Amino acid sequence: MRGTVAALVGNRRVEPREFLVPEIGDGEILLGIGLTGVCGSDLHRFQDVGTKLDLALPVVMGHEISGRVLKLGRRANDVMRTDGPLRESDRVVVYSQRPCGRCYWCREHGHTARCDGARPPGYGYRFGSVDAPPYFTGGFGDYLVLGPDSWIWRVPDHVSWEAAALTEPFSMGIRAVERATSLPSWKNEQTLAFGGTVAILGAGAIGVLTAVAARIAGAGRIILLGAPSGALEVARRIGVADETIDISATSPSERTERVRGLTDGGRGADVVFEAAGVPAAFIEGLEMLRPLGTYVELGLMVPTEQTVALNVGRHITSKDLVMFAVAAQPAQAIGKALRTIATTADRYDYAALVGATLPIAETQAAFELMEHPSDKPVKVAVRGAGY
Ligand SMILES: [Zn+2]
Ligand SMILES: [Zn+2]
Repeated sequence: MRGTVAALVGNRRVEPREFLVPEIGDGEILLGIGLTGVCGSDLHRFQDVGTKLDLALPVVMGHEISGRVLKLGRRANDVMRTDGPLRESDRVVVYSQRPCGRCYWCREHGHTARCDGARPPGYGYRFGSVDAPPYFTGGFGDYLVLGPDSWIWRVPDHVSWEAAALTEPFSMGIRAVERATSLPSWKNEQTLAFGGTVAILGAGAIGVLTAVAARIAGAGRIILLGAPSGALEVARRIGVADETIDISATSPSERTERVRGLTDGGRGADVVFEAAGVPAAFIEGLEMLRPLGTYVELGLMVPTEQTVALNVGRHITSKDLVMFAVAAQPAQAIGKALRTIATTADRYDYAALVGATLPIAETQAAFELMEHPSDKPVKVAVRGAGY
């Protein structure tokens, strides 16, 4: 049996490569990839590798992984971290890292994304060169070979592939909203739930899924700022954006005025989430926030050379604000996101956010679609042999 992976081979170049699917060991699983989402961070690697970014090429990216268990090693259920015994043909989502469980971050914080201990490679670009077995090392492939200590959750039958593939980015949105709602309610500092006004910058998957999480948490009015207009329209249609502002048709000061105009007394939003991933948006979001408000930064996740001028007195201190940040999530966040999708699948049309799915062989086109100024869907995903 042969299958294809999409290998990042150079700056802005992803190529299909065909390999023999390896025999799996006793402690391994052969997954047929269902859908793998193309993440903004994958796009950064696509755009910057060889110029601003060093990676041992060729690599297979893809960490927003869903798939079907095709072959289950004899001892796989003993060595995987699953939510119950797996069977062949089960549909699953997979955490892209295999944390050690023993380092400072794993042990003292349970924060597996910060793991710096000795451990097997995760799935996606971290795995290393695709030219050596097991070849199928990331989500952008027909198959993925899962080794011991993989974290795996079973996907309920009523959850579509499209919805399942959103689990990983949704876990970021949930963490962001959890942070914003973690403030002491007896001082009325928590103002998102029970009717708060929320502004979200960014209409990519992280922004729109943060809107879903905010709606589930009880936000009153959600203002979504971003582009293209099609992405804003989808967010409105599934009921997670009450007001939308197209950033391609407005200036930053117009947007700030509009957001303030939509809030009580023109004071600004109770809570602002920056999920655009553009340095200027960080300041723009602060301008929209009311005094004593809550700010969550989750767009600028990759440390780059890009900086932005911040007026600390004006933007931060005089507002007496609370600020949070969200970076990569611990494994447990994946299970929480999948359960949230499963219990709200009848209320929110998650699949509508996945505006395009392409076969593995067309992964290059999937990346180019992510860059398209007017046709970019909220999420682009790539289909594997398990779909
Ligand atoms: Zn991602
Ligand atoms: Zn660790």
